[in-house]
Amino acid sequence: MTLLLSLVLAAAPLEVRVLEKAVPTQALLTAEKFTCDGKELPGTAIQVEVGPREVKAAGKLCVEVIAEGGDVGIAFSDVKRKYPGSIHVTLEGGLLRFINIVDVEAYLPSVVNAEANGSKPAALEAQAIVSRTFAVTAQRRHERAGFHLCDLAHCQLYRGGDVPAESVAAVKKTAGQVLLIGGIVLKPAYFHSSCGGHTSRAVDVFGEDAAGSAVSDVEKVGGPRCGGEDFAWSFEAEKVDFARALNVQPNGRALEPLNRDAGGRVLEVRVFGKRFSSGEFLSRVGRTFGWQAVRSMKFQVSETDTLIHLEGTGLGHGVGLCQLGARSLAEKGVDAKGIIQRYFPESQIKPLP
Ligand SMILES: [Zn+2]
Ligand SMILES: [Zn+2]
Repeated sequence: MTLLLSLVLAAAPLEVRVLEKAVPTQALLTAEKFTCDGKELPGTAIQVEVGPREVKAAGKLCVEVIAEGGDVGIAFSDVKRKYPGSIHVTLEGGLLRFINIVDVEAYLPSVVNAEANGSKPAALEAQAIVSRTFAVTAQRRHERAGFHLCDLAHCQLYRGGDVPAESVAAVKKTAGQVLLIGGIVLKPAYFHSSCGGHTSRAVDVFGEDAAGSAVSDVEKVGGPRCGGEDFAWSFEAEKVDFARALNVQPNGRALEPLNRDAGGRVLEVRVFGKRFSSGEFLSRVGRTFGWQAVRSMKFQVSETDTLIHLEGTGLGHGVGLCQLGARSLAEKGVDAKGIIQRYFPESQIKPLP
C-alpha cells in the first residue's frame, strides 16, 4: 500500500462489521437519534427486525437504519453491546447486518482490551500502536464485502465499550502514533499470541510486505520470553482422518515440511503428495480438528503406520509483535518503545503522517 493511499484512508472513519457470527434476525437498538432512509424515527430505543425485503424498524420498512448519538446499544438474545460512533443496519441474506462507523481512536480501546487485557501499561501501549497501524493500513481486507474490518481475530478482536481505564489510557497516551519503517514508510503491522521463540517475516508467511523482522524471542539466560504453560503443544491424529481433513488420498508420507524460514516456521507442506501453503493447511486442519489443535506452523512431525504426531511451540502466525513476549518485557520494566524495537527493529514510533 502506498503512503498516499494510506493518508486518504487514515483520515476517514473505520467501517467495522460487528456481530456477524451472532446471526441476528432482530435486535433492540438504543441511541439518541434514529433515521430510516434519511427520515428521522422518534424515540431513543427501537426494535429492528428482518422484514420481507428491508429492515423493519418501529413498524416502517427501511433499506438502511442509522442509529447514532451517545454510545449505540445493540441487544438481542444474550448479546448486549455498546459501540462508539454510529451503527448502520441493513439486510443481508435474511439477516441483519450491523456496520459500526467509528473513528480510529474511539475503536482502539476495545481492541487493546480484547487483545492485551491484564498486561502492564507498556504492553498495552505497544498493542495500541501496533493495532492503530494495522487499522489504518488493513482497510482492504474485506473490500469486496463492502466494509474495512471484521470484529474477529481475522482482523482484530473488537467488542465495543465499556472498556477498563487502563486500555483507554494506553490509547490516549499513544494517540495518533503508528509504526513507520525507517521513520517514514507506513506499512501494515501484525501481532500474534505467542511466537514460540522466534518471530517470522510477513513476506515469508503471508507473501506480503509489512513491518517487522524475524527475531529471536529467547533470553540469553533461560528460555523463551513467550514461554509458560501455553508455549508447547502437541497434536495427534489418525492418518485417515488427517487425509480426509485435507481432502487427499492417504497414500505415502502424511506430512512433509517443505521449507522453513529463519525462525523454524514451516512455510509450505506436502500432505500425502499434495502441496499446501501454510495458510491453507492451517485453515483446513482448523476446520476439521478445531482452531486450537495445530496452533502454529512451528512444529516437528513424526509418523507411525496409522498416526501422525506433531510437537510444536507458539500460537498464531508469528508475524510482528509477540503478545506474550510483550507482556513479559513489560513486566520486566521495558517501556512501549523498547517492546516495539524488539519486534519491529526497522520501525520508529511516529505520529500518523
Ligand atoms: Zn477480518
Ligand atoms: Zn515470543
